[in-house]
Amino acid sequence: MSDETTDRPDTTTPTQGADTHTDCSEALLRVYEYLDGELGPEEVAKIQAHLDECGPCLKEYDLDTTLKSLIKRSCGSERAPEALRLTIMSRISMTMIQVDRG
Ligand SMILES: [Zn+2]
Repeated sequence: MSDETTDRPDTTTPTQGADTHTDCSEALLRVYEYLDGELGPEEVAKIQAHLDECGPCLKEYDLDTTLKSLIKRSCGSERAPEALRLTIMSRISMTMIQVDRG
């Protein structure tokens, strides 16, 4: 009776090596860098892939996109003002809590 665990390289475990899956919290945290164009192609692909299949994140992302475009139009800056940035960040935190509760 061989009880040994076969260590296959392609074993998918949810706790480790989950490079293909991006958590909602990570996606939301990185949405800013994503929108600011600070992420590399691989990171952008990961965020886009997550937003593609995650309703709550996509909803939040749409909100951010709208806010960003508004900011760009109103003050011509690519960076969000600190106060507004904090406001949006608190909104993202609330969403993260909601997502966490399921
Ligand atoms: Zn998500």
